[in-house]
Amino acid sequence: MPDGRHTEGPTEKCGVVGVSLDGRDAARPLYYALYALQHRGQESAGIVTHDGFQQHSHVEMGLVGDAFEEGDLDSLNGSTGIGHVRYPTAGSVDSSCAQPFSVSFKSGSLGLSHNGNLVNADEVRTELAESGHAFTSDGDTEVIAHDLARNLLEADLVRAVKRTMSRIHGSYALTITHDDTVLGLRDPQGNRPLCIGKLDDGYIITSESAAIDVLDGDLVRDVRPGELVVLGPDGDGFDSYQLVEQENTAHCFFEHVYFARPDSRIDGNLVYDVRRELGRKLWEESGVETDVVLPVPDSGRAFASGYAEAAQEDDADVEFAEGLMKNRYVGRTFIMPTQDARERAVRLKLNPIRDVVEGKTVTVIDDSIVRGTTSTQLVELLNDVGAEAVHMRIGAPAIVAPCYMGIDMASREELIAAGKDTDDIREEIDAASLSYLSIDAIAEALDESRADLCLGCVTGEYPYDIDGESTDRDVVRPTIDGAQAGVASDDD
Ligand code: 5GP
Ligand code: MG
Repeated sequence: MPDGRHTEGPTEKCGVVGVSLDGRDAARPLYYALYALQHRGQESAGIVTHDGFQQHSHVEMGLVGDAFEEGDLDSLNGSTGIGHVRYPTAGSVDSSCAQPFSVSFKSGSLGLSHNGNLVNADEVRTELAESGHAFTSDGDTEVIAHDLARNLLEADLVRAVKRTMSRIHGSYALTITHDDTVLGLRDPQGNRPLCIGKLDDGYIITSESAAIDVLDGDLVRDVRPGELVVLGPDGDGFDSYQLVEQENTAHCFFEHVYFARPDSRIDGNLVYDVRRELGRKLWEESGVETDVVLPVPDSGRAFASGYAEAAQEDDADVEFAEGLMKNRYVGRTFIMPTQDARERAVRLKLNPIRDVVEGKTVTVIDDSIVRGTTSTQLVELLNDVGAEAVHMRIGAPAIVAPCYMGIDMASREELIAAGKDTDDIREEIDAASLSYLSIDAIAEALDESRADLCLGCVTGEYPYDIDGESTDRDVVRPTIDGAQAGVASDDD
């Protein structure tokens, strides 16, 4: 829900895809894949294809279904291409940031779809601008494009990408076209998801496996952190280059909690299973016996079913009920610049069923609390329809700090949990009780160590070197001249 969330840094939480097919035009499969990725971005949608001679591009503001007409797809010729859906970010609806970014250089034509956020884009942009590169947007994706274009003048494709990786720092899951070659690239810590799929007549690289499913393809595997994947020209396979090796990953746990589709498989885990497991752990850690367990649709559903199942296995006398109804036409395009409008949106979006709730004690399960608008409103609404007591259980730890890596979250001032303990928050939302899930439960459910996760938003310590913030590991920030530990030299 693009609720005008203000963010401290530029954020891009987007969906990317790239395909290489044997003869068949890429535009339509890309279009279907973008539909499957629509939840990752509703601000703009675009496709860039290449027909062997020239690049074609169509990028427009709006939902996938509104951005393309039949004729647009027909004119996107070529059996290779990439696509992008962009998440609306703070206030500005700026078409210059819509993607894929495409450009033609001496070194050929480039198209880029980026999910993530560089934390040293300004530095690299300044340096490139000083050496004569002209920029048309203030986005970080254009910085990657220019750097890559420059490197392509002096090096082959793989070396050029490696050099660019040694200059950019932050999170990036990219699909790229260089003429009719399609590439996939994941940052050395694998912050944002990216996976490879096999289609009947080709290959696909995309943010989420749900986009492979809609094309009746099979998930091959995740792109590895620091790996470059190059799709063969006629959809006949792919080559892999492990360009950077780092000891620890920094997978975003929030993809599993909120952002990704439950039917996607990310870094080895089915998101639906993870959410149910998190719900089970929530019961184990802080279960409270109430008459009814209510999911906040849709994001709280899998959590609540896991929670209720674990409760019932413990012989708790709790009923799982869909007592909150969601109006699914509100949210994605509702403009909510003010807190008042945000509260109105929750009221429009969620309506309790009085008969399910009246005279009962209820546990409301949601995936996360950001500003606290949803939970505050829900407690009030449920009390209004006669709930005896309203307990809140949250399937993620308290969000105490902003995300710089591509998830659109509020700044510290707007985060209800920043600088507060759980009881203060409970009081603010006026719930009978409130519990969050522990960070350890997240790591266990994902079968990863804490050191391999990005936990910035729940600890305030980031896996990247960000100005003004602290880090939870030894990160080496790439320097402009390209000397970075962990990046193999050009010669190997
Ligand atoms: P709050 O109302 O506390 O500000 O936000 C919590 C609600 O927003 C939860 O129901 C959660 O599912 C949803 N949510 C969590 N993270 C995000 C996000 O990054 N963007 C949007 N649009 N909603 C989110
Ligand atoms: Mg929600």
